[in-house]
Amino acid sequence: MMAKRSPKTDPDPRAEWDIVVVGAGPAGAVLALQTAREGARVLLVDRHRFPRDKVCGCCLSARTVARLERLDLGAAVERIGAPALHRIRLGGWHRAVELPMPGGLSVSRRALDAALVEAAVGAGARFLPGHSAVVGAIHNGARIVELRSSGSRQRIAAAVVVDASGLGSCLVDESDPARSRAGRIGCSAMLPGRADDYSPGTIYMAVGRAGYVGLVRLEEGGLNVAAALEPASVRSTGPGAMVEEVLREAGFAPPVGLGAADWSGTRALWQAPRRRAAERIFAVGDAAGYVEPFTGEGIGWAIHSSMLLAPISLRAVEKWSPRLASAWNTTYRAELGRSQRVCRGVSWLLRRPFAARCALRILERRPGLSRPIIRRLHGSGFTEEGIAWP
Ligand SMILES: Cc1cc2nc3c(=O)[nH]c(=O)nc-3n(C[C@H](O)[C@H](O)[C@H](O)COP(=O)(O)OP(=O)(O)OC[C@H]3O[C@@H](n4cnc5c(N)ncnc54)[C@H](O)[C@@H]3O)c2cc1C
Repeated sequence: MMAKRSPKTDPDPRAEWDIVVVGAGPAGAVLALQTAREGARVLLVDRHRFPRDKVCGCCLSARTVARLERLDLGAAVERIGAPALHRIRLGGWHRAVELPMPGGLSVSRRALDAALVEAAVGAGARFLPGHSAVVGAIHNGARIVELRSSGSRQRIAAAVVVDASGLGSCLVDESDPARSRAGRIGCSAMLPGRADDYSPGTIYMAVGRAGYVGLVRLEEGGLNVAAALEPASVRSTGPGAMVEEVLREAGFAPPVGLGAADWSGTRALWQAPRRRAAERIFAVGDAAGYVEPFTGEGIGWAIHSSMLLAPISLRAVEKWSPRLASAWNTTYRAELGRSQRVCRGVSWLLRRPFAARCALRILERRPGLSRPIIRRLHGSGFTEEGIAWP
């Protein structure tokens, strides 16, 4: 454990900022929050103006909710009024099984990300929305960052830069060719709150040949629809038609308003950077590595990785050493590698219809078998007495 850094002591005199965090998603906001709480001069930059939407399934696992509480963010999240999650209904090929999954929340990214940024600002970080950051070279013992906003450019210096820019960009090593490969793409849409088959408290997950679709009710009654789909199918028919096909294949009714939905998308849902750190720069959250989101852990990984990186980045502010870059790579692999491998394994299974159908059939007969998997992926939502299994 690193000793707590006293507020504003010994900042690198050549850098205007101790830490510039690029990207104000959960990873960036939590890193900014934690390091600002320790007295660092932190600038949090995002290219979007907030609040903003983000392609996501919007489910927080029990483990993630517990982590937010540990960060003293429980009240901030509670104020959003997000519905508690109790179960998952998993369907595919006209089979469906309902499994308990207690302790999580379904919350819009618009509200969650804004609340986390507000907490970071409350802890002393400065937030600069509407600016795109480009990371430059080392100059005089600091990283140069160029901030671009509608025609204007400004160069600033930081003792440390944290790349929390999410899926699809690599600020640690722009020349890394092994960062992403073809794979499913993500898309999501918000449907207005109407009475239909989809009630709050349940994650509806449909699996089909073209991918999978998750539906969940959010804080103001809207229904969030998120999917990981084969890009070729999306290109030929559009996301709405593909989502409807996967839902019908799974035996789920298409929700009201699906035909008129306004879709947003992502690039390929896979990213494996060769390096997660270089001199005075660290990657965190999706920017540090991404696997398909079937198990709904991306926000949790983003927050967890920031909690792990915060003390390392504070040490780097005080004195840069290449050993800190290796420490981050090792810590990341040790703490997140295993759950990302499990998630990758589940995605692999889902791409094989025969195996996926067999798995569903087994769960239909013996739902209790999923309990250790859910506990492992989702965290501590089960009570001491446990949940009454169907
Ligand atoms: C279809 C789908 C469903 C998902 N469902 C779930 C789910 O149910 N539960 C779950 O936990 N996870 C889910 N995920 C994963 C989750 O969305 C991500 O893992 C999570 O958002 C990662 O957080 P982050 O902070 O690393 O990145 P992001 O949330 O992507 O934030 C990155 C930020 O960086 C900003 N940015 C990027 N480049 C720059 C730049 N150059 N300068 C300034 N700003 C920049 C962006 O504007 C953005 O605000 C899902 C993902 C997809 C695609």
